[in-house]
Amino acid sequence: MTERSPVWHPFHQHGLGEDIPLVERAEGAILHTADGRQVVDAISSWWVTTHGHNHPRIIEAIQAQAAKLDQLIFAGWTHQPAEDLARGLTAIMPPELKHVFFSDSGSTAVEVALKMALGFWANRGEARHRIVVMEHSYHGDTIGTMSVGERGIFNRAYSPLLFDVETIPFPHVGREQATLDALHAACKRGDTAAFIVEPLVLGAGGMLTYPATVLRRLRETCASHDVLFIADEVMTGWGRTGTLLACEQAGVVPDILCLAKGLTGGSMPLAVTMATAPIYDAHYSTDRAKMFFHSSSFTANPIACAAANANLAIWREEPVMERIATLAEAEAIGFAKLAERHSLTNLRQCGTIIAADVVVPDEGYLSEIGPRLKAGFFARDILLRPLGNTVYLMPPYSITDAELVRVFSAIDETLAEVL
Ligand SMILES: *Cc1c(COP(=O)(O)O)cnc(C)c1O
Repeated sequence: MTERSPVWHPFHQHGLGEDIPLVERAEGAILHTADGRQVVDAISSWWVTTHGHNHPRIIEAIQAQAAKLDQLIFAGWTHQPAEDLARGLTAIMPPELKHVFFSDSGSTAVEVALKMALGFWANRGEARHRIVVMEHSYHGDTIGTMSVGERGIFNRAYSPLLFDVETIPFPHVGREQATLDALHAACKRGDTAAFIVEPLVLGAGGMLTYPATVLRRLRETCASHDVLFIADEVMTGWGRTGTLLACEQAGVVPDILCLAKGLTGGSMPLAVTMATAPIYDAHYSTDRAKMFFHSSSFTANPIACAAANANLAIWREEPVMERIATLAEAEAIGFAKLAERHSLTNLRQCGTIIAADVVVPDEGYLSEIGPRLKAGFFARDILLRPLGNTVYLMPPYSITDAELVRVFSAIDETLAEVL
């Protein structure tokens, strides 16, 4: 777009002068730009859109709610969309997760989870504050969530302010025991409060997958040491991995669960942190000093809650799971064909999330490959944003076969051009 826009974009180097497309409207998997292009959104607008852009039921719910109640203080006040949503969520999530705390983004859902864990131990009078994390994790961009995420170029400038955590290695194939041993050792320390993890797929860390059996053993290790288990399903939730929650595939119920992105079908900013009875009960008292000290202005915004309620209705009444299964199959076929024609390795898939690494001719090319591929995809009207040399798909479930064909031929042509 224009050079002189005052907008400062996230994760964007304005100094490179790259073109910034202006999108006017969207439907399904298609973004309509101001200059008349129809771009296939193959990453669900950064992992949020689940049923397609502007799903009519969600839009209708937003419009109806906006005409009734736009916003309300939520400390000691309530409204029907939040009540309905909390009941709707407790009905479909594991029954142990009885309590729903609202916030407005994945980062705040994780911040809330960490504060709940620390509050739990503090209110029980135990000095536990250490957080255990997994290598290559991503939990958000606020100071707290950066602290529990992978350290690197993204947060080097802020590292003096990040708190110390205990990091266990990622469970690479054949090295799972080292991960479990490291968690065991960390849990044995008396000051460990919680372990936070992205179940089955580490998203921003490079779409790294690990098996459900490992997730299950991580959960068991925490349980056997009374260390709280926090599942960050901000990306993996809402069907992305082939089940409503990734935890389901491992038969795991976390003590604390973070949901955001697809909670409203990806239409409005809203998040929840769900907790088991012991977490809630540790804050339940006649003593005001034990309450949960957290709020943000737009906590449980009624319009966002209405959008989330429409999302739940879509899950109940439309064949979402079938769409997910069909999409996952089509993605597998398309990627297998690409792998036959191009130098791709580490092909991996978890539900509708599919990824492979492009083999680069030399290491020096590694930092260049992502931006070049991205430009090649965009030139072919496809929104894809490789993570380094990792090319992945995470489309909305409504993407059509014809749109998928466009995506795969664009990847095919771009790989041929760039490599
Ligand atoms: C995106 C993401 C977050 C942060 O969510 P925001 O809404 O961008 O703050 C946290 N955890 C995971 C696993 C994510 O993918």
